[in-house]
Amino acid sequence: MSFTKESVNKTPIVDTVFVIVDKAKKAKEEVGAENVVDATIGSLYSEDGKLVALDTVFESLKKQDNQVLAKYATSFTGNPDFQKAVYDWVLDGNSKLYHEVIATPGGTGAVGMVVNECLEEGQTIILPEIAWGSYALMAQMHNLKVENYSLFEGDHFNLTSFKETCKKVMEVQDKLVMIINDPCHNPTGYSLTKEEWKEVVDFLNECSKTHKVVLLNDIAYIDFAYGQAKAKEYYSVFDGISDNIAVIVAFSLSKSMTSYGLRCGAAIIMAQQEEIVQEIKIVFEKEARATWSNINNGAMAMFVDVLENHLDEYNKERNYYVNLLKERSDIFVKEANEVGLKHYPYKEGFFVTLSMDNETRDKYHEALMANHIYTVKVNKGIRVAVCSLSLDKTKGLTKKMKDILDSLNK
Ligand code: PLP
Repeated sequence: MSFTKESVNKTPIVDTVFVIVDKAKKAKEEVGAENVVDATIGSLYSEDGKLVALDTVFESLKKQDNQVLAKYATSFTGNPDFQKAVYDWVLDGNSKLYHEVIATPGGTGAVGMVVNECLEEGQTIILPEIAWGSYALMAQMHNLKVENYSLFEGDHFNLTSFKETCKKVMEVQDKLVMIINDPCHNPTGYSLTKEEWKEVVDFLNECSKTHKVVLLNDIAYIDFAYGQAKAKEYYSVFDGISDNIAVIVAFSLSKSMTSYGLRCGAAIIMAQQEEIVQEIKIVFEKEARATWSNINNGAMAMFVDVLENHLDEYNKERNYYVNLLKERSDIFVKEANEVGLKHYPYKEGFFVTLSMDNETRDKYHEALMANHIYTVKVNKGIRVAVCSLSLDKTKGLTKKMKDILDSLNK
């Protein structure tokens, strides 16, 4: 008998990111930062190697009254002005569905709520095959089974695999819950086109004739999508969902406001029928109360203040980094294509992922480190965090990486 519940998986977390981040740090101390390529860090870094913390955001936070920073939020679901600001900012006028917003500790809180509260233990959640590791961990902690859909068919979204996976799960349970991490998928940098979203929704509408469907759309990186406001237009496709579907959008201030440590985000619950939204809201509100009680009041106040009073400054500051990220990823992808370094279809976002089988990946990852190039292993690939790589370090990198890959086969 153990001190924790028997049913929980007790294997320690293997944090594939922080171990390598640490190795890169040690290498910089030993051989000098100029001789190390550190493509491990999944946060936005400036050209001079510092974590980007947007001035607009942190000036607003520091100007909040002490009482605002000190007090509890006005409700377990978040402050009403925050809820409205989140909805307006995220949906940007692209949806007419009934909705409710629940403040959560980061995007993690929003995703976790869906994973914990929408399926019974032993049921199956549908996840992308190459994805943010926390999805599988959340599923494991709640004793859910996982079915993965393969993400790509050539250079586009693998709708065939998505459909087959849903159909397989429909044979064993009466509900479908799936995660689509779009736009700017972590770690591949793919974004579905509006047409691909339409095909997804058409298919889910078919499924919903016999099964309830919960679509979790994790948009953690949306504010770094290169299309900006255009990147939010796909939400209008959700207006075509049937009555038997709920869409939950997981929003995070971590990337949007560069405020990772403030732990603030939101779950936006959307459906055709108000009753469905309310049913989910009641449970999510109780989950919030029982788990984290309420959300950082100062972070919510800052978000409202930035969007209401400093929007132009915020957009200007953020867009500078959106453009910088695009410049970095353009160089990496262009040069990777020139030297023949294979990667998953990248459109936008913090990471580019090289595609390979897991056996090659393991050998390659070691070989890269032996050459002081630090990356992160993901399923079937190597993640390169262009978000934290300076232009200087990005230029010419793919040639070095390709040579190291080729040397493995000699
Ligand atoms: N979703 C994805 C795909 C992520 O990569 C992250 C963070 O890395 C999150 C959600 C949630 O982040 P946070 O809880 O900091 O908002």
